[in-house]
Amino acid sequence: MPALLSLALLALLGSAFATPNPNPQQLPLINADLLYGNAPPTKLRDDLLSLHRSLVEVESITYHETEVGHHLARYLRRRGYTTQLQYIPSKTDSPDENRFNVLAWPGDSARPNPRVIISSHIDVVPPYIPYYISDDEPTSDTVIGGRGSVDAKGSIAAQIIALQSLLDAGEVREEDVMLLFVVGEESPGDGMRHFSNSSERHALNFESVIFGEPTENKLACGHKGGLFCSIEASGISGHSGYPWLGKSANELLIKALYEMINTDLGSSDKFGNTTVNIGRIDGGVAANVIPDHAKVDLAIRVAIGPEDEGGEIVVDRIKKILYELDPESLKFAYTHGYGVVECDCAVPGNVPPFEARLSRLESLLISFRIRDDC
Ligand SMILES: [Zn+2]
Repeated sequence: MPALLSLALLALLGSAFATPNPNPQQLPLINADLLYGNAPPTKLRDDLLSLHRSLVEVESITYHETEVGHHLARYLRRRGYTTQLQYIPSKTDSPDENRFNVLAWPGDSARPNPRVIISSHIDVVPPYIPYYISDDEPTSDTVIGGRGSVDAKGSIAAQIIALQSLLDAGEVREEDVMLLFVVGEESPGDGMRHFSNSSERHALNFESVIFGEPTENKLACGHKGGLFCSIEASGISGHSGYPWLGKSANELLIKALYEMINTDLGSSDKFGNTTVNIGRIDGGVAANVIPDHAKVDLAIRVAIGPEDEGGEIVVDRIKKILYELDPESLKFAYTHGYGVVECDCAVPGNVPPFEARLSRLESLLISFRIRDDC
């Protein structure tokens, strides 16, 4: 089955970008010498490293993906692919008015009808970190870095080179595959959302999608949900020398956060614990003033389901904590939340490199599933 062959090669190629790790679980499982180690350099490896380097060297922080998009499309066209730039409707807060997803398929068909879509994202998080490689001649100890070198330009390079190898070997038919590289995955997911709602997507009748994301070279079979929220604390201002005359919003917020990170907000055998990232805190005006206002922004990874209710269950547990502490002074708000997302990861046959695991495919998968009409 072509998709499985692609997956096998993707795992092999993806391992080229892993920082050396003593954990045997993270070491390549098949013929790593093909890429590095004792075997002589191969054209496959050189092509892979060259494409990867060229992608990482182009800065593509979210909202600035245009240059890397053109670079990718040019690369694919030169290798016989038909490309389509799918432009994203601009938003007033976007500094780049010409953002686009890159769709590509082998050959010159005007109306592709692939069985498999191979996808990843071309944007990265800030700041830009230049490409680097620790050795001129790569070995198993070589470290390759730079922003996006793993997430997800490592995936993109591996996907393209793997696909080309399979096409060259006649293992995959041209008409069976399409590449889809989207913008805006890191935030706000508009690239994949736009594709999912587009006429191009509705014209397709594919059987499966391979998403490229860092998954430790394992096949992801689900991911945690998310809850994106904030808590505001209100206090009474006063001089720091007379704390009994005021009420510290900072103290209140700290107590709430302490309770949250020490409470089981939801856990399951398969997905582990619901975890809380205290991402940003604002509070107070000066060291000698009792703060009357504090706010925290949180990203919570939800480990319980179902998908459409897991987020609400965590919300209720957080509200209970806040209510028991100080219902008048602690206000909770959230933009959206959802429970765990389980994928169909049953792979027929015995594909040695893969060990199904949970992973972080949230943005691509969730955006892929979103349709305005459902
Ligand atoms: Zn990613």
